[in-house]
Amino acid sequence: MSTTPNSPEARDVAYHLHAYTNAKKHEEVGPLLIDRGEGVYVYDNHGKRYLEAMSGLWSVGLGFSEKRLVEAATRQMERLPYYHTFTHKGHNPVADLAEKLVTMAPVPMSKAFFTNSGSEAIDTALKMIWYRSNALGKPEKKKIIVRNRAYHGVTIAAAALTSLPANHNSFDLIVPDVIRLTAPHFYREGKPGETEEQFATRLAEELDAAIQAAGPDTVAAMFAEPLQGAGGVIVPPATYWEKIQAVLAKYDILLVADEVICGFGRTGSMFGCETFNLKPDMMALSKQISSSYIPASALLINKRVYGPIRERSGEIGTFGHGFTAGGHPVASAVSLETIRIIEEDGLVERAGEVGAKLQAGLRSLADHPLVGEVRGMALIAAIELVTDKEAKTALPTPGQLGAMVNANLQEAGIISRAMVDALAFCPPLIITEAQVEELVAGVRAALDKTY
Ligand code: PLP
Repeated sequence: MSTTPNSPEARDVAYHLHAYTNAKKHEEVGPLLIDRGEGVYVYDNHGKRYLEAMSGLWSVGLGFSEKRLVEAATRQMERLPYYHTFTHKGHNPVADLAEKLVTMAPVPMSKAFFTNSGSEAIDTALKMIWYRSNALGKPEKKKIIVRNRAYHGVTIAAAALTSLPANHNSFDLIVPDVIRLTAPHFYREGKPGETEEQFATRLAEELDAAIQAAGPDTVAAMFAEPLQGAGGVIVPPATYWEKIQAVLAKYDILLVADEVICGFGRTGSMFGCETFNLKPDMMALSKQISSSYIPASALLINKRVYGPIRERSGEIGTFGHGFTAGGHPVASAVSLETIRIIEEDGLVERAGEVGAKLQAGLRSLADHPLVGEVRGMALIAAIELVTDKEAKTALPTPGQLGAMVNANLQEAGIISRAMVDALAFCPPLIITEAQVEELVAGVRAALDKTY
């Protein structure tokens, strides 16, 4: 860390409480302050260049210098910098974005509701589900199913659905009635001798049994990322989604697809739901929707959800939910332009093509002594780090090995993200094959340096 008195780094340590950061350690190691971006690279305050292999937080799909997004924001700021969507009011960009999202959805959707973050979209989904159950005259139908290792955000309701220890420990969350099931993580949860298909069958049976135990009439919905991201980039086992969806259909339970990471090309299809053939009733969208140049998120709902909300509003007057900045005109204009660029430049197909190169490159590291598993698809991947391949264990302190390799990567100019002892890679959709090679070579060097 720069120790220069009054440097930006010193002032950051003095005044800024960072998100997801060990406060004490921050005082020791100091911040990495990023000053500017160019394509897939960012530069820190000292001019050092980093290949941003996480797209920030799985989110800057178009890289860090897309002028068209700047221009779209500027045009909208000049024309109408703010307007809201409460009580029948609105504006053109949000109407256009609603139409675009509903018509591009991979399954029939009725409406788009606008929020500002993934967490807000998830909270909104939960409130809509409860509202719907009440509207249907089924007030007991409120329980929610999630899987371990799920990440759905950090507001109180979203954090309750998230199933990672750090998001619960010491927060005294008001947890609604949540049923937590096994993560579809074959490497960690598969039994010896079990095939992926048998594992998927076991998880579907677990779901069925959990619904029976809870009382089928009390279970409202399952929230799920098509591919779990922050929990470790967990690609579900073969046949998982078809078996899980069959159980949900049997008991008339809604499926909410959390597409906050998967959406807009990440898994090689426009949406994760297409990659895994999911037929959700609601889809939460954020991050790459605006390439994260500006906060934006949306919730798509189908007629099973919209119908009762519509009917109920006749009786009780208004749907009492909305955010001051939800559907912000500048965020809507930037999101529309982001989607236009993804479509015009064929970035979804590119994610598949360049992603195949990334997957092959990272898999070539599988024989390294520290690599337990390489997993992922298209432009999202993780390397599970171990010190004992047979026992699938790392160093005694969880996360220590991940932090060590991650620090070596950062020193070498590559930004990854350690999820305990797995390292995530989720580069911008615009990454080139040469940059993928640079990334893979950097990862190999960082592994070699660690062991
Ligand atoms: N859902 C998923 C799948 C996410 O990965 C995230 C954030 O990483 C969220 C929800 C929460 O989004 P936000 O941080 O914008 O609230």
